[in-house]
Amino acid sequence: MLQYLTLPVTPFQQNCSIVWCDATREAAVIDPGGELPRLLAAVRERGLDLKAIWLTHAHIDHAGGTGQLAREQGLPVIGPHPGDQFWIDGLAQQSRMFGFPPAEGFTPDRWLDDGDTVQIGRETLAVRHCPGHTPGHVVFHSAPARRAFVGDVLFAGGIGRTDFPGGNHQQLLDAIRRRLWPLGDDTVFIPGHGPESTIGRERKHNPYVGGFDA
Ligand SMILES: [Zn+2]
Ligand SMILES: [Zn+2]
Repeated sequence: MLQYLTLPVTPFQQNCSIVWCDATREAAVIDPGGELPRLLAAVRERGLDLKAIWLTHAHIDHAGGTGQLAREQGLPVIGPHPGDQFWIDGLAQQSRMFGFPPAEGFTPDRWLDDGDTVQIGRETLAVRHCPGHTPGHVVFHSAPARRAFVGDVLFAGGIGRTDFPGGNHQQLLDAIRRRLWPLGDDTVFIPGHGPESTIGRERKHNPYVGGFDA
C-alpha cells in the first residue's frame, strides 16, 4: 500500500509529501518547495530509497527546491503539465518576489497530462490535469489508498487562488467538479496548504464549490 508523510516547508507552510511503496521502500517527493535537508533527513530516518520528484505545479513554494534536489540526488523530475512552463521559466523571479533563496532551474524529464499514471515501487497513481490555479496544475490519486495529493486546487474549506497570471476561476471550478468530485466522497486529499479533508466533506460544505452534484 502507498504510505506518505507530509512536511510543511517554506515560509508558506507548503505541504510537501513524501510518498512510498511499503513493499519496496521506494519513495517519491511531491512538491519539494524548500528545506531540502529536512526532507532528506525524513527519507533517511525511514530507510527509504528516493527515486523521483513529482510536481503538482511550478509555484515557488512547491517547486523551489526541485532543481537542486534533482541535481544533487540524481532524480528525475516528473510533471507538472506543460502549461506551467512559464512558471518554471519564472522561478528566479518568483524567488526574488517572495524572498525565497534563489531557485535553481530545471527541465522536467517527463511532462504529465490528464489520464497519465506515475509509479513508485509497486504503487501506481493516476494523474488528473486540474487547471485554473495554474494552467499546468496536476493532481496525483491513489485509488487503493483512497488518497489524492491536490496541491493548490482544493483546500479544506477553500479553493486555489486564480488571480495570478494564467489563473482562471471558472476553469478551476470545472476541474474540481469534473476531476476531483468523481474520486469519491471517502477519498482523503492532501492539499498544498493546511489540514487534510475528504472529497465528500468539501463537495457538500465547501463555500466556494460545494453543494453541487458530481
Ligand atoms: Zn500555487
Ligand atoms: Zn502553494
